[in-house]
Amino acid sequence: MYNHHQSSLFPTLILFLSLTLLSATPPPQNQQQEDSPINRFQQYLRINTAHPNPDYTSAVTFLKTQAHSIGLQTQTLEFTPNKPLLLVTWPGSNPTLPSILLNSHIDSVPAEPSKWSHHPFSAVRTPDGKIFARGAQDDKCIGVQYLEAIKTLKNEFSFEPIRTVHISYVPDEEIGGLDGMAKFVKAKEFEELNVGFVLDEGQASTSNEFRVFYADRSPWNLVIRALGTPGHGSRMFDNSAMENLMKSIEVITKFRGNQFDVVKAGLAANSEVISVNPVYLKAGIPSPTGFVMNMQPSEAEAGFDIRLTPMTDLDLLKKRIAEEWAPATMNMTYQITEKGPLRDYMGQPLVTPTNDSNPWWSVFKQAVTAAGGKLAKPEILPSTTDARFMRQMGIPSLGFSPMKNTPILLHDHNEFLKDTVYLEGIKVYESIIKYLSSFEEASR
Ligand SMILES: [Zn+2]
Repeated sequence: MYNHHQSSLFPTLILFLSLTLLSATPPPQNQQQEDSPINRFQQYLRINTAHPNPDYTSAVTFLKTQAHSIGLQTQTLEFTPNKPLLLVTWPGSNPTLPSILLNSHIDSVPAEPSKWSHHPFSAVRTPDGKIFARGAQDDKCIGVQYLEAIKTLKNEFSFEPIRTVHISYVPDEEIGGLDGMAKFVKAKEFEELNVGFVLDEGQASTSNEFRVFYADRSPWNLVIRALGTPGHGSRMFDNSAMENLMKSIEVITKFRGNQFDVVKAGLAANSEVISVNPVYLKAGIPSPTGFVMNMQPSEAEAGFDIRLTPMTDLDLLKKRIAEEWAPATMNMTYQITEKGPLRDYMGQPLVTPTNDSNPWWSVFKQAVTAAGGKLAKPEILPSTTDARFMRQMGIPSLGFSPMKNTPILLHDHNEFLKDTVYLEGIKVYESIIKYLSSFEEASR
């Protein structure tokens, strides 16, 4: 209890504290008066599934309730304790045909509430229709749109699919997917789905056309280390660890520059070249006040985030790293950590054809057109999604999130999606699900 007589500062302080508390706490979840597609989207957004402590249980419960209310079957799988994967199924009339899988991840990246104009888990809808929330674009929108589209097809149009349609809600995509999709695709439960075609998340488009992605770039973590004779800070000698590391960094910087020049010249998209970005430098001998300044260290290290295009010649790049970026002749060693698959089970690049050789592509394109949408030129995604695990199994997979005329805000502050864009997305999925599930010709 506060004592009113103590200080005149107190009321101000209390006001300040309560304001601070208000901005740090999500508003009460009492906006469930109407049951509408927008409201259901907001409810999903208000479940905090951000890392490092995603509330998977509440999210799965919510999605399961939605699926059951539409009359769909559900199954919760757990390949790692406390990391559930929800599978929703709409059985087709011909279960012998390969099925359609619509994938989305439940988790999201963290958000810093103080840097947002609305609390990231409030899902506030502003008068101009913007719904602000972490996950609004990446990728809770598609998660609920899938269900909404099926709901309309099933209950309003009494549409019956020929192929079975599955929706998967997977954990941990944002931290690499190793306990999520990576384990799922190797499981017998996945094999039993007999998946013929996958739609996974894409990215917003700032233009009037929808974007579609036929491949991801694949990350490598590269660490290079230099060893050398230590020496007094005043000495001049060859092959010190620092000298050799710096020479390597120069070579790598040149390679990075050459790749970037191609992009700057407009000859390739950002996602069509190899990116190599330095992420840390580690050297020096610590002292209580910083670093020992009169000694040349015997070890130095640097780390790089490398993103490979699906067509990257892996042997050639490895040779380049061994011979030019970390040559043993300069007392250097290196370590490459591959963050996911680079080739499919047949040894082929992880690319889904977007031409007539892939019958699914034509059907997908027709479906988008039928919904009044236009597709931009298919792209490689600059980053990485779970689609790579499905492509590794040889299953054609496209990245697609129907958000046009929308700024790209994934992982950014003030991530939002407009209500009209969200609702239009449902219509687009209605068409896509109808076309894909009625398509009888392709086996795989
Ligand atoms: Zn995502």
